[in-house]
Amino acid sequence: MDENEVLTEAEQAALALVRECRSRINSTAGQFDSARIGDVLIRELEYLKHAVSARQIELTARLVTDAKDRLRPETKVAAGWAARVTAVAVGFARRRHPAAAARLVRQAQVLTHEMPSILDAMRAGELGEEQAAILVRETDGLDPAARAQVADEISDRWHRLGDRGLREATRCVVNRLDPDLAQVRAIAAAQDRHVNWRSAPDSMLRLTALLPVREGLACVQALQAADDVAKASAADRGRAMADALVSRVTGRAAGEPAPVDVRVNLMIPIEALIKDASGHLEGYGTIPGHLARDLIAACPDEDGPAVRRIFTAPGHDELIGMESSSRTYRGLLREFITLRDQRCRTPFCESPVKHIDHITPAAEGGKTTAANAEAGCERCNYTKELPGYFVTGGAEKVTHRVGRLTMISTPPRPPGTRRRQPPSGLERHFAEVIWDGFTAPKRE
Ligand SMILES: [Zn+2]
Repeated sequence: MDENEVLTEAEQAALALVRECRSRINSTAGQFDSARIGDVLIRELEYLKHAVSARQIELTARLVTDAKDRLRPETKVAAGWAARVTAVAVGFARRRHPAAAARLVRQAQVLTHEMPSILDAMRAGELGEEQAAILVRETDGLDPAARAQVADEISDRWHRLGDRGLREATRCVVNRLDPDLAQVRAIAAAQDRHVNWRSAPDSMLRLTALLPVREGLACVQALQAADDVAKASAADRGRAMADALVSRVTGRAAGEPAPVDVRVNLMIPIEALIKDASGHLEGYGTIPGHLARDLIAACPDEDGPAVRRIFTAPGHDELIGMESSSRTYRGLLREFITLRDQRCRTPFCESPVKHIDHITPAAEGGKTTAANAEAGCERCNYTKELPGYFVTGGAEKVTHRVGRLTMISTPPRPPGTRRRQPPSGLERHFAEVIWDGFTAPKRE
């Protein structure tokens, strides 16, 4: 559907009804002044959430079907196009990362077409979206008839099981219906083994590994058997295991500071040199000033540029101002845009940057400039090519549109650029010295 297409009376009425429901629920706050029915209301609202989720799921599956129907049969597009472009719309509508939105779309298709009894249970308030996700995941690989049978066999108890109980009950039935499936799935799942990490609150980093159970347990047992862990009290065991992990992976003795022997860009405002101001560590995100200074101090120049310091100039809110005669983003320009955008610019994605892309494609006359560039992750870079997904605007304000949903993306402000008054002469001079090779951005 085009965003400018006029809505029918029935469509407008449907939207108005949903909006009215929300306002009526909000108005219940003023309708009673005792806590006597608070618990019952919480339960009723939970049932309502389940019913709302069921409706979202149905609509999601319907969007995929509609997208397929709209496409002319002679148009050549990538396999799974309809589901992928629907995932973008669902991501925008529900503020989800594109990968999470893609999972919601797959789940909606299974629930709608293969396990409709679960949707009925959701409408009745018996199951929520998370429980439905467990049932879909645990029956993955079964044919539709078997999936429906699993749902049927546990439908008498699913409303009183916790998530773990529901998972176990589903596995039991699946193992009976298809005894070989667990092995087939284990072999496939082992191919997905990986290590990933993400920033955690308070200058921490969460490191996780997805491993086949045998290797995973071997790691846990090796850490448990480490000298310091075996000697540690129960209260200290968690910390001792974390220390043993660091020491074994980095080869450094416990207690010795682990070197940040990685080539990273650290972007910090000039103010961070003299007072506290947060910085941006590429691949991690925002870090407090004390950590930025520690990282610099831990990497003296004689050890090589393990941490590359890039200072942001006060007053330069928009780092926009370089261009290249090439049709691809390379070298300094590429690095500049990576620093400016910091993360994939697709709304709610925020994955690490893998590609720098033209906003207006080079084939349509788009220039290879920072102002026409947008950082993206691998997934979003390919998704943007799909029919039905429109990206327009300039780097300062990129518009992503799918169907009737439009999202605006603006680059994050470099750290320390809260104030907008022009920098002093000394600051400007300092900025020019330490920007070293970067064209100081011009303000229009
Ligand atoms: Zn992305």
